Amino acid sequence: MSIQRLSDIVIAQIAAGEVIERPASVVKELVENALDAGATSVQVETVQGGRRRIRVSDNGSGIPNDQIELAFAQHATSKLRTAEDLQQLITLGFRGEALSSIVAVSRTHVMTRHRDEPTGTEMSLEGGALIRQQPIGAPAGTILSVEDLFFNTPARLKFLKKENTEKRYISTLITRFAMAYPGTQFVYMQDGREAFRSTGNTQLADVMVKVYGIKTFKQFVEVHGTEIHKDNQSEVQVSGYASLPDLTRGDRTHITLFVNGRWIQDSSLTYAVTQAYHTLLPPNRYPLSVLMINLPTDHVDVNVHPTKAEVRFRYPELIFTAVQRSVRNAIMASHSSGESPNFTRQVTPDASRSEGWNSHIQLDLKLGSEESNFSNVDSDARLQEHATTPEDLNRPRHPRTLPPLRIIGQVGAMYVVAEGPAGMYLIDQNAAHQRILYETLLDNYASGTADTRRLQSDQTVTLSARDSQILERLVTTLTKFGVDIENFGPVTFRIRGLPASIENRIQEPATIVHKLVATFVNGDPDDEIATVAQDISNLAAYRTGQILSEQQMQTLIRRLERCENPHSSPDGRATLIHLSGDQLAREFARS
Ligand code: ADP
Ligand code: MG
Repeated sequence: MSIQRLSDIVIAQIAAGEVIERPASVVKELVENALDAGATSVQVETVQGGRRRIRVSDNGSGIPNDQIELAFAQHATSKLRTAEDLQQLITLGFRGEALSSIVAVSRTHVMTRHRDEPTGTEMSLEGGALIRQQPIGAPAGTILSVEDLFFNTPARLKFLKKENTEKRYISTLITRFAMAYPGTQFVYMQDGREAFRSTGNTQLADVMVKVYGIKTFKQFVEVHGTEIHKDNQSEVQVSGYASLPDLTRGDRTHITLFVNGRWIQDSSLTYAVTQAYHTLLPPNRYPLSVLMINLPTDHVDVNVHPTKAEVRFRYPELIFTAVQRSVRNAIMASHSSGESPNFTRQVTPDASRSEGWNSHIQLDLKLGSEESNFSNVDSDARLQEHATTPEDLNRPRHPRTLPPLRIIGQVGAMYVVAEGPAGMYLIDQNAAHQRILYETLLDNYASGTADTRRLQSDQTVTLSARDSQILERLVTTLTKFGVDIENFGPVTFRIRGLPASIENRIQEPATIVHKLVATFVNGDPDDEIATVAQDISNLAAYRTGQILSEQQMQTLIRRLERCENPHSSPDGRATLIHLSGDQLAREFARS
């Protein structure tokens, strides 16, 4: 071959290799452009992990009609004029090569209207060649749709990872942007379903809750620190959140760093974060953090790499110290102030429960405390524990926590009255049954022995996009509880069976779904599994007002006697009231 100058299109295709590695690179560049254009709302849509289509819509400034062609040309940018400008960069883009690279390796469609112009432009390009261009009416902002990425560069196409891997890259990227720009609303639609949404209310904490869930977020502490260079007085600010030492991961990928609003990779600063936890973490465990590092623009060189993910600092030690110190201070402060990462559920007696009963009786209300299963069992009952009863021969899975009770009857279709060696017991049938079902569900879950009972006919439930997303995250957990549920269309779920342990006690399987969605819609609870068990047991338990057969009462009491925490329901209500022989005697003035 003789030497020839390459055509612009071929040059752009070759150059594209550097900036556009995968669908996520397109998303990154387009979102950066939207943010640089001052968008307060950015919507990203992908089809098939971005291979089929990536569409980014923003409400930013839009591109002026007379500049649209230039925008897609190589090395064309509105963000920088001279090399010196690189020192004062406040924009994410500056190299002027993203759009030209993207259009070179895809079929691109753009609609844009500059906010100061009455009409906008619509334009189609294919492999860098202009196909169509015409004026259109459109809201201010830009919609860029990139289809069939790498259709003309088969080598690239071959190296794309599995669709799910690409989806994961894109999701991670969008959550990073959402954290770096909490004042911008981000919506991510994946194959037509909403996969992520932030509110844009400027609160990083709110975005983090969306990203990590409330349970995890509660184990973060706020970081705030400033470091000043002693010679030139320049200032580095570090803010954000860092995990308490109890929350760790097996790798460093959850140490997220931003410099002046740009996500960066920096092994030295990552090390600074882990150093802040020195001696606090087990070996090979790493913290989670989201840190915003802000410093004068001329103290950081962002033009190190085409993807702009690596930067160079003028005073690297200063930044290192700033990061390490601010994180260390934050975790130490939380330790000393007693701010505890353990949000143990407090089981409190519900006083109103006993009010209907003879209120001047000194009720010996014994509530199960999580630590001591036996401490609240009457001493004579404890002796009984060691006597051989027929049940012991069957080796029940759980030790006794209540003395054996003899059923006397049911009162008011609400309480079971029973007699034990140490007096009389009134058992709230609803609270007790909830406790039993709850522990059984959790037991079966933990041992992986949850059986499913098939429904007579399959049930389908259709939810809103938001609710189906909430439910989708719970499907695995539900399955482990014995709920046979599966995704059946974008927002529809099919339920084919319920846990055998709840014995057909839920007539309308959809109620589980609705209850769970209502519980989880306000964010993830501290203990997802316990919460699911609580919701199911709540629905399946005997209702107040239900007449129980002799057999039902027997089973209820026998099972309650072996609950780990027989004295309270999962939501903290008393399951039983015990009137000791002494108390009864006192009441009847016998002593
Ligand atoms: P860079 O971002 O490095 O300047 P790009 O190739 O990404 O280069 O974009 C070229 C130019 O097109 C930008 O400088 C900007 O003026 C314009 N542009 C691109 N996307 C948008 C957008 N979403 N809104 C407004 N202007 C845009
Ligand atoms: Mg750009």
